[in-house]
Amino acid sequence: RAKAAGGNRYELADADSNARVIARHSLTNGLPAALERGEFFIEYQPLVRLADGTVRGAEALVRWLHPTHGVLGPDQFIPLAEDTGLIVPLGRWVLEQAARQARDWRDAAGGDGDRLRVNVNLSPCQLSHPSLVSDTVAVLEDAGLCPSALCLEVTENDLIGADEDALRPLRQLADLGVDIALDDFGTGYSNLSYLRRLPVSTLKLDRSFTRGMQRAPIDPVDVKIVEGIVSLAHTLDLAVTVEGVETAVQAEYLRGLGCDTAQGWYYARPGPPERLHTLALADAS
Ligand code: C2E
Ligand code: MG
Ligand code: MG
Ligand code: MG
Repeated sequence: RAKAAGGNRYELADADSNARVIARHSLTNGLPAALERGEFFIEYQPLVRLADGTVRGAEALVRWLHPTHGVLGPDQFIPLAEDTGLIVPLGRWVLEQAARQARDWRDAAGGDGDRLRVNVNLSPCQLSHPSLVSDTVAVLEDAGLCPSALCLEVTENDLIGADEDALRPLRQLADLGVDIALDDFGTGYSNLSYLRRLPVSTLKLDRSFTRGMQRAPIDPVDVKIVEGIVSLAHTLDLAVTVEGVETAVQAEYLRGLGCDTAQGWYYARPGPPERLHTLALADAS
């Protein structure tokens, strides 16, 4: 390939990948200090009940305010944190923040706040970490948040092939009342009958399935696929959340197809936690 592209191109590509390796190294090395210095922050993206448009909570999405590179998204540093194991303390920090935040929302919304929950993403390293269950329980207790107000998101790919031993911590959390959602559902290759064995309560349908419904002409194949997944999920007593809802057309279609919850720019981009107070209180009144 290098030959076909010519010698110069080869050198350029090489210099380029060197720069990437160096950038990767310096970001990776900066992670522990960033956690100590408080450079991470969390944005919250509302989750909306499609049936009536009310806010039912939000997903916590971590960002890094890097001193020289500005705001970095999770795709730029979570893989690095996973490689180095820093994801465990970082993930715990996210969980602590999110649990406290959810407690605040619920308090502020009074009696109507009971329906507000927070979703937190879990990495595979956290899943296999021996103290996942005890850490989570401790965080919930410290925050004064009941387990059913927390939803942990695990990607389908991280669970494919997991045996009963590997699933035990998730099952324990589910038994305590924590919701477990299967994130990016549909992008993996799990055997559908496998779903029955997982301690999950929600499927989060990957955004690639709903892209074809953004605007007319609607992709009829995407409609059929979503219809099929919703019917399968509901048969198994699982709720369906759709990601990446960007237009009113899409929201209307997905509501019609029986999806339960939606998340996307059409409703709100990820933003500061205070915004959820406003949205949730508006619903309550
Ligand atoms: P995810 O859990 O699937 O989160 C959804 C992603 O879709 C978020 O990207 C969100 O900003 C984006 N999104 C939401 N609505 C729309 C929309 O309407 N259109 C489009 N185009 N995108 C939308 P983000 O914040 O960049 O996060 C990327 C991924 O990083 C997340 O995917 C999640 O897997 C991971 N992540 C984020 N926070 C954490 C964390 O605290 N811990 C771990 N382990 N992973 C995290
Ligand atoms: Mg997620
Ligand atoms: Mg997702
Ligand atoms: Mg994703």
